Amino acid sequence: MNYYLDACSTTPILDSVIDEISYVHKYFWGNSSSIHKQGIEAARILERSRLFIARKFNILPEQIFFTRGATQSNHIALSLLFDHFKSGLVLTSSVEHPSIFNAINLFKTIDFKVSYLPVDKYGSLNINTLKKYIIKPTKFMSIIWAQSEIGTIQPIYEISNLCKLNSVLLHIDATQIFAQGIIDLTNLYYDFVSLSAHKFRGPKGVGLLIANEKFVSNKTSFNHINNILASMNGTIPVSLIAGMSKAIENLNTIHFMDNNKLQFCNSNVARNTNLIRDSLMNLPGLEMIGHPTNRLPNHISFVLRDSQDKPVSGRHVVRLLSTKGISVSSGTACQVGENNDSHVLKALGLKDDLLQSGIRISLGEWLTINDIKNIIPILKSTILDIISNSD
Ligand code: PMP
Repeated sequence: MNYYLDACSTTPILDSVIDEISYVHKYFWGNSSSIHKQGIEAARILERSRLFIARKFNILPEQIFFTRGATQSNHIALSLLFDHFKSGLVLTSSVEHPSIFNAINLFKTIDFKVSYLPVDKYGSLNINTLKKYIIKPTKFMSIIWAQSEIGTIQPIYEISNLCKLNSVLLHIDATQIFAQGIIDLTNLYYDFVSLSAHKFRGPKGVGLLIANEKFVSNKTSFNHINNILASMNGTIPVSLIAGMSKAIENLNTIHFMDNNKLQFCNSNVARNTNLIRDSLMNLPGLEMIGHPTNRLPNHISFVLRDSQDKPVSGRHVVRLLSTKGISVSSGTACQVGENNDSHVLKALGLKDDLLQSGIRISLGEWLTINDIKNIIPILKSTILDIISNSD
């Protein structure tokens, strides 16, 4: 038996999504840019998907751009913003996904300064701190809505109001939050929003860049985004887009409450997550990280120290749990490279020797209550063994 608890990294594709992709592949294989019968039929499927997704987010179909995933959406959004302003100050948080830092390094010119906003010990941005950073000549801001490694949800509505007030453009990396459900975008001030289909049981290699209405009502910027996409990606993967649309059909709705909080609908996932969190909470050497309440409802994150108070390697825990049939993650799966220190844990102010000790458990609706009952004792005993046996 294997239990998959790494939803923030990717999710198992739904059967209905596979069926939709196969159907479109089989019957609508034309190039959607061609003007003959097969092309027109494929373009129709593409536009049907666009309409469906637009209706779900309560936006105009023209606001939707199909990308190869959130990494590409992030890159395109930032390249457009840097190109639009030519100079000024850019704000981003210190807990962004690496693709944001990479895009900044790629597109920033010497005429730009970048400020990396500090977060508190829970990984949250503080609005009052933000007010101090949002000084002239701030041109745009890029903020992760929900942090993948520690689950913390940023106060995006307050941040977006602050941007609006200061005429600062805003890009939101909504990859992890939209994996939990659809949010009506009407009441949110934004310029660009990024997301990826494989985080919500859709196919890999496809995502969205949602642009604000005012951006796309300008024909030049609308064509510019399409030209960038066409030059980067070529032929449009209509079947994957139809698959993404199918996966969106399956998503719950997230409600935005009067107190600026989000209300998530998948109560089974939240209940299962709480059961696991409660069972681990008091283990010796285990310290929960991320915000205790403003967090993704499917997410548990912690660092581990052994009985001699020495940090335990997160990768070691992941490998050992994998041999026992449980798949979890140590930090972000997207960080490849020589240095495995987590920039997110560093931003929380954790000591240097703990920066490789992060463990993330992220659940999905494929796990039943019986699975959770099986998982808890294995998780607990493995962690206790690791803590007592590490030397
Ligand atoms: N942003 C966030 C917050 C993410 O969690 C991820 C994926 N881990 C990405 C962007 C990149 O998504 P993709 O790998 O699908 O391009």
